[in-house]
Order: sequence, then C-alpha cells, then structure tokens
Amino acid sequence: MPFPQRLKSWWTSLRVRLTLWNTAVVLAAVLVALLAVREGLRYSLLAEIDAVLNDEAKALILAIQEFQADRELVIDEMQRIASGHQEHGWYILWLDADRNPIWSSPGAPPLTDTQRAAGRGDYSVWVGAAHRAVERRVPLSNQPLSYVRVGSPVAFIEEDVARLTRILMPVSLALLCLAPLGGYLLAWRAIEPLKHILETTRRLRPSRLEERLQVRGVGDELDQLALQINQFLDQLAEHLRQQREFVANAAHELRSPLTAIQASTEVTLEKPRSAEEYEDLLLAIHEQCQDLGNLVNQLLQLTEAEHGSAEPRWEHVPLGEVIQSCLDMFAPLAEDRGITLRASLEQQVTVRGLSQPLRQLVTNLVDNALKFTPSGGVVSVHLRRNASPEVELSVEDNGVGIPPDELPKIFERFYQVDKSRSRAVASRGNGLGLSICQAIVQRHGGRIEVSSELGRGSTFRVWLPAAG
Ligand code: ADP
Repeated sequence: MPFPQRLKSWWTSLRVRLTLWNTAVVLAAVLVALLAVREGLRYSLLAEIDAVLNDEAKALILAIQEFQADRELVIDEMQRIASGHQEHGWYILWLDADRNPIWSSPGAPPLTDTQRAAGRGDYSVWVGAAHRAVERRVPLSNQPLSYVRVGSPVAFIEEDVARLTRILMPVSLALLCLAPLGGYLLAWRAIEPLKHILETTRRLRPSRLEERLQVRGVGDELDQLALQINQFLDQLAEHLRQQREFVANAAHELRSPLTAIQASTEVTLEKPRSAEEYEDLLLAIHEQCQDLGNLVNQLLQLTEAEHGSAEPRWEHVPLGEVIQSCLDMFAPLAEDRGITLRASLEQQVTVRGLSQPLRQLVTNLVDNALKFTPSGGVVSVHLRRNASPEVELSVEDNGVGIPPDELPKIFERFYQVDKSRSRAVASRGNGLGLSICQAIVQRHGGRIEVSSELGRGSTFRVWLPAAG
C-alpha cells in the first residue's frame, strides 16, 4: 500500500479514534479534577478563616461585656488584642447601630470597601477586595446596639491556591502526555484480536469456507463476535452444501429421462423401423417428457415456495374451502383405487397466506397419502383451529407407513424412502413433494411434523398461524 494511503487508513483506524477519545476524556477529567481541587481548597481555607475570626469576635464581645461601664477600658482592651494580631494583618472594628466606626484598629480597610456576603447563624461574613471579616452583634441589654468586626487579608488563600495549582500543573501535563500513549496501547491490546478476525475473514472464499475464527475463550464481545461469525459460516457452508447437492440431484433426475430418450432414439435409428415401432418410441419419449415436465414444475414450485415470487399477494385464505376443493379433485382417483377419503373440516378457518402454495401443500400431502395407501385403506383429512391461535391440518392414512430411521430424512430434497415403493404406484414422484410442503409451511410461519408406523400408516400434521 502506498504511504499516503497507509497513513490515511492508520488515521481512520479504530485504534487512533479510541486513542483520541481516551485523550479527550482524560483531558476533561484532569481539568474537572484540577478545578475541583482548587475550589475545594479555597472553600475549606475560607471556612477555616471564618471560624478563627468568629472565635476572635466572640473574645472581643467578652471583653466589651467585661468593661462595658468604661468605654476607655474597652478600647484599651481592643487595642491590646489588635496589636497581638498585627503581624497577621488582622484588623478590628467596633461599629455602632448604623455601622459607623466607634473604634477601628490601625490598618482597617475603609468601610465602603466592604460588602456583606453571607449570614451564618449568629454572625455574618463581610468581604472586601483583599480581605474578609466576621461580624457579631454585641449583646448588651443596657447599652446602645453595636457590632464587632474582625477581619483578615485573604491574599494568602489565593497564594495557597496558586501554589497548589503550580504543583498540580506538571502532574496534569504528565497525565495528558501519558493519556494518548496509554490509550494507544490499550486500544492496540483491545483491537489485536480483531486483526485476526479480519485476516481470517479476508482468506475466506465461497469455495473455501472450512476455516473458522479463533475464539480466545475469554467470553468478551470479540469472542462473541467470533462465535457468531463462526456460526454464520457453519450455516453458510451447510447452505452451500445443500445447494450443491440440490443441483447435483436435480441434474441427476433430469439426466435419467434424457438418457432414456437418447438411448431409445439411438437404438431405433440404428435401422429402419416399422410405423408401430416409431409410434412406440414417440409414446416412450412423450412419457419421459411428461416426467421431465413434472420435475421442472416441481423445481419451480420449490424455488417459488422457498424464495417467493416478486410480489406475493398475501390474503385471508379460507383453508377449509381450499381443502374441500382438493378433496373433490382427488375423489375420483381415490374411488378408482378403492380408498375411502374422509374429511372433518372446521368451517370459518382462515389463514393469512398465499392461496396457490397452500393448495399445493394440501395436494402434495393428500397425493402422498393416496400413493402410499393400498386399496381398501382410508385417508382422513382434519382441519381445526386451536387456542394458540393456530390452524391445525392433519392428513392421516393407514397405508404402508415409513420406517422410523427414515422419518427424519423424508423432508430432504429428492429423498425417497424406497424408490420402488413410489415408482410402483401410478403417480410417480421424485422426492421433492415434501420439501415443497416444508418450504411452503415455513414461508407461512408454521411447522410440519410426521408420525408414522411401518405397515400401519402415517399422519402428517401442519400448524399455521391463524388469520385475525
Ligand atoms: P415423492 O414425490 O417421491 O413422494 P415426497 O417428498 O413427497 O416424494 O416424499 C418423500 C418420501 O416420503 C416418499 O418417497 C415416501 O417414501 C415417503 N412418504 C411420503 N408420504 C408418505 C405417506 N403418506 N406414507 C408413506 N410414505 C410416505
């Protein structure tokens, strides 16, 4: 493959796409984690400073309460406390009811620079551009209303947050560099078995379907895919085998009458013949042609039943009426062969389907029953609708029956239990009748079964979904 094409196929490969996805997810996760850690740290530092400032405000209130009679003493005490906190940059404000300063420590920011941020129970938080304060009401019953406010600069919090960000940045960058690499390796590992699947499927040909995909036995999705493809290949191989067999059998069946025609014409043409001999030859050819015609018709019916015509006309078929008209058609033949034809047909039974193939189904089953039942026998046809709701059709005879080991094979194409049995009867078969029945039933979403006892008779049962 030329390089640009190789590059294009690499770029569009699942591996690269998974890697890109992985990198995008890691990038998003790192950003979210970074923000969460930064904001978490800022929040907890602020909560901590609020708690400390609140304690300090409480201490100031105790001092005010202690020296309340003497304002000078209160201010002295405040000065003493404020000077102890100067190194931290803390400040103290004593405010009257209108929040005008009664006393303020050196370094206290202008009051206009401060906004009330939140009320937390018995204290409130005030924030400014670079500082933060906790304010408490001074609870003195015999004095005018006043507040104490203790504040602190917050620059150190932003410094801490920035320091943490500086520490986390290289870690995040390292993670971001490792993500595509790790993603590529992971994707490579995950996709490796797909390569085997691709290689094997590339080798498969309709004429060479023996190879199967490797199943690693770990039970993951790729194993399931391999199993599914293997199952499909099994079915495909079986289908192709059946098709080949079908073509071979069809050719074989078509060849027999053709060989017979060829042989009899060659023999007849060897020397001059009488008019009667030519007539015999033409009769023989006519008979073989009839057989050929029957076979070709059946092959067409089978193809039609299996794959359907271009535009099937599905309709509500009154099955009872279809069966009755078939039985009327077979009545003279049954009488001729000394066979009693009985029917018990539930009226108003309809199936949604194709009228002509359903007629064919009944015809084939009754035709077989008559073929394999000797004179004096009985053939009964039943039709009823059960609760499922399904329509159940059975064709029962007390004829020759089918050996148990042959039962599973009789629906195979061209399969005949014993050619001599059917050749002996007037209507000759070629082993396609039941395959056609099965194909018709399956096309209608039903099922067909047989039970039989050698020498005692057979019963063919068909279930079809009822209409409505
Ligand atoms: P054919 O056209 O040769 O009858 P079918 O596919 O209709 O082919 O039937 C396959 C085989 O099943 C027949 O060769 C026959 O031996 C057996 N069979 C079918 N129906 C009956 C039946 N009612 N009684 C006994 N054998 C049957």
